[in-house]
Amino acid sequence: MDFAHSDENLALQKMCREFALREIAPFAADWSARAEFPAPVFRKMGGLGLMGMLVDEEYGGSAAGMVSYVTMMEEIGNADQSVAAGLNAHSTIASLPLAKFGTDEQKRRWLTPLATGQKIGAFALTEASAGSDAKGIRTTATRVDGGWVINGTKMFISNAGTEMSLGATVLVVTGVNADGGKRFATFFVPEGTEGYSKGHKLKKLGWHALDSRELVFNDCFVPDDHLIGEEGNGLRQFLDVLDAGRISVAALSLSLARAALEMALQHSSEREQFGKPLRAFQAIGHKLADMATEVEAARWLVYRAAWLSDEGQPYSQAAAMAKLYASEVANRAANQSLQIHGGYGYILESRISRFYADAKILEIGEGTSEVQRNVIARALHAS
Ligand SMILES: Cc1cc2nc3c(=O)[nH]c(=O)nc-3n(C[C@H](O)[C@H](O)[C@H](O)COP(=O)(O)OP(=O)(O)OC[C@H]3O[C@@H](n4cnc5c(N)ncnc54)[C@H](O)[C@@H]3O)c2cc1C
Repeated sequence: MDFAHSDENLALQKMCREFALREIAPFAADWSARAEFPAPVFRKMGGLGLMGMLVDEEYGGSAAGMVSYVTMMEEIGNADQSVAAGLNAHSTIASLPLAKFGTDEQKRRWLTPLATGQKIGAFALTEASAGSDAKGIRTTATRVDGGWVINGTKMFISNAGTEMSLGATVLVVTGVNADGGKRFATFFVPEGTEGYSKGHKLKKLGWHALDSRELVFNDCFVPDDHLIGEEGNGLRQFLDVLDAGRISVAALSLSLARAALEMALQHSSEREQFGKPLRAFQAIGHKLADMATEVEAARWLVYRAAWLSDEGQPYSQAAAMAKLYASEVANRAANQSLQIHGGYGYILESRISRFYADAKILEIGEGTSEVQRNVIARALHAS
């Protein structure tokens, strides 16, 4: 067993940490207060090769692998969760369907601008009536001469309404099988396609700088060459990509938990009450010890899931465990860190209040905690 980072990964970690401290952390509160998507930062991340870490070099990526990706995500998310959330959706659920199932032509046309960071990607599954139950989606694509016509509405979609948006990868129903089960497919719908429109930017509890909105498809025609992968395989393709997405959200969660711990350590060292720094009180020291232990446990679940993926071994269950545990650790750590900050933590100007508000969605997006437990329980029965 080897728990050490490679030299290459340590260099990546240092580069990402310095970038995040210089280009993201000082401005993140402002972007959050104005709910502003910071496009220039995403372009800079593209310039550093951080927007295509899971994409082959041939298409503008660095094919760095999941362990390196997780290392990067831990540093970016430590500075700001909204930026990291945009990067998360872009790198996994939005880019991977093209990377894994796209044709060479589709990859050159759409994946390359995504991987180089000229553009940002979006993936649209969720609908008003279907979130956890992906098979419940109602958006349809109907076969017509030369292509397909999409009709339906998607909900809560990240990255689709920014100045860098390239379009959306959309999961739809294409018909019914002989056994009555739905047939699914995935289409790429580029910006500006007739019949594709977007709702207003949604106001959220956290992740304020992330663009999230409703997408509407109204008799939206896309040619045959916009079908990604095979018609009938859309759901399987999505589930394949989702495991990587779960590792990514787990890394995002780890970054939040670590940030909460670091803030708690700093505040409890600086703030004095009863003539001593807070950290000198056993009750506070125990909270810090519990947080540090959980952060460490989350870290190894996340990195192990990433390592299994890089090794080509099965990792669905490991990804679900990492996402479940790290997202719950993030919420406990944010809660305890804010408690240690006292009233100052409750004031919106405090950094911890932003991370506290950002934490809750980690237990919901890309499979809720309940869904992760279902996945893990099913795998236990199967093994
Ligand atoms: C900020 C934000 C960004 C998002 N970005 C995207 C995006 O880019 N693309 C996209 O497609 N979606 C996106 N989503 C949607 C997100 O993935 C869903 O919100 C999530 O999957 C949960 O679905 P739901 O909200 O419909 O909740 P529901 O599925 O209605 O669940 C509600 C509650 O019921 C529980 N529940 C449901 N089924 C079961 C079950 N079988 N067993 C036990 N409990 C169950 C859930 O765990 C949850 O607690 C985003 C959401 C938000 C808020």
